[in-house]
Amino acid sequence: MCCDGSLFDNVRLGGDEDPEYFKTLGLPVKRSRAKLPIAFVRQPCPALCGDCTCRIYEDRPHQCRSFECGVFKDASSGKITYESAHRSVVTGRRKAEKVKQLLRMLGETEDTLSVGARFRRVQRQVSAGGLDADAGEHFAALGLAMHKLDLFAHQKFYTAEVE
Ligand code: SF4
Repeated sequence: MCCDGSLFDNVRLGGDEDPEYFKTLGLPVKRSRAKLPIAFVRQPCPALCGDCTCRIYEDRPHQCRSFECGVFKDASSGKITYESAHRSVVTGRRKAEKVKQLLRMLGETEDTLSVGARFRRVQRQVSAGGLDADAGEHFAALGLAMHKLDLFAHQKFYTAEVE
């Protein structure tokens, strides 16, 4: 979930990490348009394999190496069992899938973008024009599903360094 766009919009490269190097590994590195540009890789990450492993694990960016989600920290410190951690991941994935399903129902099918980016695209479309009754209902359900995912992520996965 940390790599598939459910929880994060991007992975930032550090100032000492060479964007060109990561491009050679197949990561489409972008640069922000800020005064001091930041290099980043949009999520879902193209290095994420179907079996949830990282294709470039040994060479992954520093942010990927240093981040440990709250569930992992709690499980590895013995605060919760691995079974409980697994249940949290399953629940988180179910909540993310619900959001993706509603996004698709609203015509947002760009699955190379993170869930958050897709949600914002739908919000912009809704602001720009009206919605028929069916779409209005789906959008209301989407807002609620997104809120539940965000709340759960804050409770279980995000840690102080990413908030
Ligand atoms: S580089 Fe690897 S660890 Fe980092 S986001 Fe991509 S798949 Fe995940």
